[in-house]
Amino acid sequence: MTSAATVAAGPGPERPAGPAVVPPAELLRRLRARAAVDPVTHVEEVAARPGITADWPPWAPAELRTAFAGRGVTAPWRHQAEAAELAYAGRHVVVATGTASGKSLAYQLPALARLLTDPRATVLYLAPTKALAADQLRAVAALELDGVRPACYDGDTPRAEREWIRKYSRFVLTNPDMLHHGILPGHAQWSTFLRRLTVVVVDECHTYRGVFGSHVAHVLRRLRRLCARVGSSPVFVLASATAGDPATAAGRLTGLPVTAVTEDASPRGGLTFALWEPPLLPAAPDTPEELATVRRSALRETADLLADSVAAGVRTLAFVRSRRGAEVVATTARRALDEAVPGLGDRVAAYRAGYLKEERRRLERALLDGDLLGLASTNALELGVDLVGLDAVLICGYPGTRASLRQQAGRAGRAGQEALAVLIARDDPLDTYLVHHPEALFGRPVEATVLDPANPYVLGPQLACAAAEAPLTPADLTLFGEGAKEAVEELVQVGALRQRPTGWYWRHRERPEVDLRGEGGGPVCVVESVTGRLLGTVDAGSSHFLVHPGAVYLHQGVSYVVDELDLDDGCALVHAEEPDWSTHARDVTSLSVVSVRSYADAGPVGMFLGEVDVTSQVVSYQRRRIASGEVLDTRPLDLPARELRTIAVWFTLSPESLAAAGVQAADIPGALHAAEHAAIGLLPLVATCDRWDIGGLSTAVHPDTEAPTVFVYDGHPGGAGFAERAYAVASAWLRATREAILGCGCEVGCPSCVQSPKCGNGNNPLSKADAVKVLDVVLANLPPEGQE
Ligand SMILES: [Zn+2]
Ligand SMILES: [Zn+2]
Repeated sequence: MTSAATVAAGPGPERPAGPAVVPPAELLRRLRARAAVDPVTHVEEVAARPGITADWPPWAPAELRTAFAGRGVTAPWRHQAEAAELAYAGRHVVVATGTASGKSLAYQLPALARLLTDPRATVLYLAPTKALAADQLRAVAALELDGVRPACYDGDTPRAEREWIRKYSRFVLTNPDMLHHGILPGHAQWSTFLRRLTVVVVDECHTYRGVFGSHVAHVLRRLRRLCARVGSSPVFVLASATAGDPATAAGRLTGLPVTAVTEDASPRGGLTFALWEPPLLPAAPDTPEELATVRRSALRETADLLADSVAAGVRTLAFVRSRRGAEVVATTARRALDEAVPGLGDRVAAYRAGYLKEERRRLERALLDGDLLGLASTNALELGVDLVGLDAVLICGYPGTRASLRQQAGRAGRAGQEALAVLIARDDPLDTYLVHHPEALFGRPVEATVLDPANPYVLGPQLACAAAEAPLTPADLTLFGEGAKEAVEELVQVGALRQRPTGWYWRHRERPEVDLRGEGGGPVCVVESVTGRLLGTVDAGSSHFLVHPGAVYLHQGVSYVVDELDLDDGCALVHAEEPDWSTHARDVTSLSVVSVRSYADAGPVGMFLGEVDVTSQVVSYQRRRIASGEVLDTRPLDLPARELRTIAVWFTLSPESLAAAGVQAADIPGALHAAEHAAIGLLPLVATCDRWDIGGLSTAVHPDTEAPTVFVYDGHPGGAGFAERAYAVASAWLRATREAILGCGCEVGCPSCVQSPKCGNGNNPLSKADAVKVLDVVLANLPPEGQE
């Protein structure tokens, strides 16, 4: 198999000629022609739009206008000018517009104008990743403005340069992690910079959601507090992908009143957006019943489309949800291309977060230069901002939100040219629902970003960090918001803070250890034992699932088997081996109710929101033949259980109401289990979460509720706002769940409706028909909420 190094080392022997681009309609026709049954369920034509420019604001220095003109910007788009005016006038502003709409000019203009007119002023820029900060540094540096001295300050910055940056740079680019771990704790060294701080830019702010978003919200409050102590109160300029209610989300993130600019005035080429459902496979006569209804996998389908698209000479980016999936898509497409034209497979590569930075940048450049024609990638955010203007984008599986769907599709379309985007449905209830309900994708505004700064698991640790930076005063409690007083009292009780007349003091010499990116410590390193080579990293939360002993782990198409997972050292040792099976981890879960926050008593039905304790353990894994999916065996694992206190939404039904609806007592477990799976699958429709952020449990009688119950919980300590959102829109959520099950063409249940890819019970028992009856009972009794 070819490694990444050889891919980039030289072009293949057979290169499709020149940049002649197949028009999207023609490309789509060719892709469709390969299937016997038309897999396209809907085609949305997104019209081209002309751009609307505005005049440069009168306060923009001539030097700055000239610099922008040198970069090809002769006048700002109207939304850029509007946001810049607000920011320059001292209003906190969020600009929330589409991919490649020029959001960066909207903050560069006011920020750089301040730096040029006030030689002492400073600017702080935050991006969620180091890669994006580096991209932004290149853009600002290219303007060659005197005295700005932009510089990145992050984990990669050499010690020798750090002091120079603190002293002389007036435009510091960093990320929330560095702000949290480095700059705020070392604020004494930064006091001059902070005193002169006039603008804080928060780029890609929609990525600060869930638990991570709640942490970042407090990091920004800590920044504001330290600024206030040295006498500055910077203006916040935020940039977001298109998102629902960006002003509220940005307000929650910063704790400030924020004005939103949402009308995108940049020009856009036309986009043909197709929804694609892989065909059902004909069942072989001896197929076991649970495998009888199987669709062609979205990964295989995406790999084929990528291969066809590359063969047509079209520069194509395929987004795949999992790392493993990205590897599989790239490998399969390469194999298919090599079979057609030996060497053509070298024009396709995989790209994902676990790769090292140099490797990622090299792949990106190769795609931009045209050395590569196809790239299978995991997450849009890991990609550099410059990587736009591709001819086609394939999206393998709904990315979880309409906002990220649009963002991914937005990578397609060179200036003024038509482009193609295809959403390929995975075999799961949400994807199936969406490709048959295009109005749920195209006819609705994008979701709001959900974060909850009042999460006590975030607030307590963040207040400890703040106290370690400077003692907390009663006024600070207002700044940190709801729950801050209780959190401080608890910190006093456990001996972390000492209360004195002047405030609350951190009692220890060491700083509190707080990880913004979630629980369970840092990422697990995947290391090849023989060579000691670091292949990549896996986040701690998924390490039990992905790199348990015996797991098959893929890197750039090369297959490895895990020999050992050392949880203390955070490292998994692997060796190269290519078995013809894949591995699938299984876990067991138990749950107990701690407290009820809110409930609706609806006759035989109860709907609840509350705190729960969840214990789960990865106990075994299955080995499955890659070609057929046949289960070879199940092997036990010896991994520690993990405890989680979190927020759950749950509903109960009386056994009598179920009997009246025609659900036999013996079928109750299968009915609830099937409803639980489908409900988890549909939750991303109403909350900005991912199926993998959510857990579930169902039981015919739960000791805490004494009734048939379905639980759905946030997979993060303290909750992340998802279950809360589900509770708020419960009937809309469960109605969509019911429709998804009912609308599925299978007979007894399939991955498109009630089966779950992460079921700890091997999808057994499941009753599709009875799940609909369960949901009918709930919906008949639950009062419908507002318009959602
Ligand atoms: Zn089905
Ligand atoms: Zn299950």
